[in-house]
Amino acid sequence: MLFRDVIGQKPVIQNLIRSVQEGRISHAQMLFGPEGAGKLPLALAYSRYILCTSRTAEDACGHCVSCQKISKLIHPDLHFVFPVFREKTAEKVTSEKFLPLWRSFLQNNPYFSYNQWMKALDSENKQGMIFVEESAEILRKLSLKPYESDWKVMIIWLPERMHPAAANKLLKILEEPPDQTLFLLISENTQTILPTILSRVQMIRVPRLPDSDIEKALTEKYAVDQTRARRVALQAGGNFARALSLLSLSAEDQQFDRFVTLMRLVWKKNISEILGWVDELASVGREEQKEFLQYALTLVRENLLLNLKLPFAHRLTEPELEFSRKFSAFIHPDNIEQIHDAFSKAQTHIEANAYDKLVLFDLALSLSEIIRS
Ligand SMILES: [Zn+2]
Repeated sequence: MLFRDVIGQKPVIQNLIRSVQEGRISHAQMLFGPEGAGKLPLALAYSRYILCTSRTAEDACGHCVSCQKISKLIHPDLHFVFPVFREKTAEKVTSEKFLPLWRSFLQNNPYFSYNQWMKALDSENKQGMIFVEESAEILRKLSLKPYESDWKVMIIWLPERMHPAAANKLLKILEEPPDQTLFLLISENTQTILPTILSRVQMIRVPRLPDSDIEKALTEKYAVDQTRARRVALQAGGNFARALSLLSLSAEDQQFDRFVTLMRLVWKKNISEILGWVDELASVGREEQKEFLQYALTLVRENLLLNLKLPFAHRLTEPELEFSRKFSAFIHPDNIEQIHDAFSKAQTHIEANAYDKLVLFDLALSLSEIIRS
């Protein structure tokens, strides 16, 4: 990961580069911001820039020995700590145990969510955590002299998942880090981090990505066509990890995702977000709009059957069923006719070539009235 591989975030990158060039690298920094904004890619590119032996004014060189080792995530002065899970209650476990998996996961794509990481760990829904035994490991690693460079870098991903006892043991070293040591903490929820930790780090905000950055990255780096890139960017809500998982969805999963989004928005009755949803569906063309409306009708019918505890067709996929268990409470004999009519009317109008944005917006408003009453 080089700075030029990071999606957007130019002002953050410029500040990080300046800190190196002006020789004022703060020893403990926290990159914080929403999921999928690129905090971990930034931390990787920053570490590489610091450890690179022939960096330029804009980026690491990408080919010195140090850069090569960082590409493989095997640089001896670059350390990682991240949430892991215990297979047995009493097990002592640190990030070291899962390091090979972490390396391949991160090399494959540094834009991922906590949930995706836990899934990769095969944690069977156990909570991921940075356990208390990790603190001794951190102190041990940092007590060594740098092997190959001027700096030792310790990247701690999601310190909010650190056991308070572990966090407490790190306070002293965060306050007075050994020479040539850099802590890079990466957080998505600073509210649950001990204030004593927060007060010891320099905070760097990494904002949500604009849709345009996501769209551009998808077309340029992932060879996605413009229309699809735009659609995915709109749905991703500034989260590139989410954009990538949307990309991997099949057409059917996308319809489901659209339906869930629509229901959430009509329930909130947030007009500007509804307009965003309308734009997204308007961009995919009439055929897919018709398919979506047909899909929605089917799903609504299945939900009514579920609500009435009648045998339903069992055509629901696992995610659909999970969603429907709660959602079916909103679909009942008193409103099914209205909901059905709203979708059918939209279908008829789309087929008759009515202005699609207007039809879809009307649909959303009618659903809002029906579902909220
Ligand atoms: Zn280099």
